[in-house]
Amino acid sequence: MRPLSQLTPKRLKNIRLVCFDVDGVTIKKGTFIREKETRQTETLTIRTQLLEERIKQKLLELKKYYFIAINSGRSTIYLKDVFNELLWDNVALIGEVGIFSLLDGQVVQHEKFTKATLEKMRNIRSALEKYAAKTRLAEAFEQKQFLITLHTRFEDNNVYDIVKRVDPEGEFRAIWSGEAFDILPKRLNKGVALANLCRHLKISPRQTMAIGNGRNDRDMVETAGIGVTTEPKVLEADYYTTGKSHLGGEELVDKLLELWTEI
Ligand SMILES: [Mg+2]
Repeated sequence: MRPLSQLTPKRLKNIRLVCFDVDGVTIKKGTFIREKETRQTETLTIRTQLLEERIKQKLLELKKYYFIAINSGRSTIYLKDVFNELLWDNVALIGEVGIFSLLDGQVVQHEKFTKATLEKMRNIRSALEKYAAKTRLAEAFEQKQFLITLHTRFEDNNVYDIVKRVDPEGEFRAIWSGEAFDILPKRLNKGVALANLCRHLKISPRQTMAIGNGRNDRDMVETAGIGVTTEPKVLEADYYTTGKSHLGGEELVDKLLELWTEI
């Protein structure tokens, strides 16, 4: 791994697309989510960080030169709220780990699930709901269409056991993101999502660069021609960001804008 400062214009020659993770990379981490249920009502409270104006302006500048993909486990509704002003040209917002994207003025569902998979999804969700009701570790389920996202106080191993019990065939897996578990079919990951987008745009994954920070970003960073990590201890990649005061995503945008004139 090399520091991002060693990235050269020559390496960027064939790059057409830059793919960003969201939480901890383009937006500060820290989602607060709670669910409260009484006999008659249900209250869901969510507090998340917003995209900083400065970073937004830099992304708008960057999309003059590169196609920008935002690749996240978040719902496309959340992504559209936050990255609204980047739409529509030269941008794709990939949500729910590639199940959906906002692209070319459309909401596209990339993954179709069989009846059996949907049923298993429902069974996993209801087993986790039962568990969440009796433990203080679970905070809330994030609103998504298909992806099951359960926020817990820490990496609670019971979640892995529950998924295994309901799905002994191992079609699904749970991934810990640092603040929540995403539970989804094994064949889906952010790398597959990036490859799907490349197929749509008729470019090769080698012509892409991707930046992430967690275990759930590994496939994405490996699929891309150039991988960047903001957390080299957690995630390996070709390059790592070093800035302490900035989000890693901003450091990458700064570097790309700086090098662009030399390409
Ligand atoms: Mg991440």
